[in-house]
Amino acid sequence: MNEAKFIWMNGKMLPWSEAKIHILSHTLHYGNGAIEGTKAYKTPKGYAIFRLNDHTKRLIESAKMTLITVPYTVEELNKAQIELLKANEFTGENVYLRPIVYLGYGVMGVYHKEAPVEVAVAAWEWGAYLGEEGMKRGIRLKISSFSRPNNKSNMGKAKAVGNYLNSQMAKFEAVEAGYDEALLLDDEGYVAEASGAAFFMIKNDEIITPPNDNSLASITQKTVIELAQYLGYKVTRRRISREEVYTADEAFLTGTAAELTPVREVDARILGAGGRGPITEKLQSGYFDIVCGRNLDFEHYLTYID
Ligand code: PMP
Repeated sequence: MNEAKFIWMNGKMLPWSEAKIHILSHTLHYGNGAIEGTKAYKTPKGYAIFRLNDHTKRLIESAKMTLITVPYTVEELNKAQIELLKANEFTGENVYLRPIVYLGYGVMGVYHKEAPVEVAVAAWEWGAYLGEEGMKRGIRLKISSFSRPNNKSNMGKAKAVGNYLNSQMAKFEAVEAGYDEALLLDDEGYVAEASGAAFFMIKNDEIITPPNDNSLASITQKTVIELAQYLGYKVTRRRISREEVYTADEAFLTGTAAELTPVREVDARILGAGGRGPITEKLQSGYFDIVCGRNLDFEHYLTYID
């Protein structure tokens, strides 16, 4: 990975190599913690963090869902992320930020009430999550043998550390089978989300994306819905079955890291002409215009750091 200079940890700016935890940290053993994935892009006015406040709020809400009280306010954590970007003196086109709320050292056993709550934010330069080529040609998606956990046994809306075991298993299975990414269905067989991104399909010029019934309330998904409506497209949020995915004209994934990644194939079914579809391309370039500060109608989503 691309190392940076500093990591913010519990209020202090530490050199990258010194941001360490104890082996008996509670989260490492029992998997309760919350993360965010936030991105900053170089704009004509310097780096700007995209939808910073929404991401930080989601971090605190994810932690609340998993019974962790974050000892910082949204404002304090926003400030920490801005300071971290400044301190690291990045030069690349974009920077990924990874805030994490975790349980530290001092308590063992599943009951976590007395475990100390720690917070850290790391930031580093990170290229296209699903590859530069995938952004142009589209990726190949496999419907996973793993489903997204039922709402009675998990909390998909929390960006909780423990939820990523399910994501990891699905992703590994898809890559081992020669695909780029996994698409997980819910326990009733409708599309939930990819291992780390939301799903969209296009049929007869209508853009369709599922509700977040048991998936993360993706901030990029929300942004792309708003962008599509701004561009005059009809957007529908409803459940999507496997057959509909196979016969879509176009499809794509959205996420902070995945940005807007076209899908060209699902389970050996070629979608449309088998590349990045025309509506997908418009939305993709529209998305980059927003995050890179080229569309001033969406500038309220940017937090400039200088
Ligand atoms: N679903 C999952 C499981 C994810 O990890 C992510 C990435 N955060 C997303 C969806 C997309 O969410 P967002 O657009 O807020 O990054």
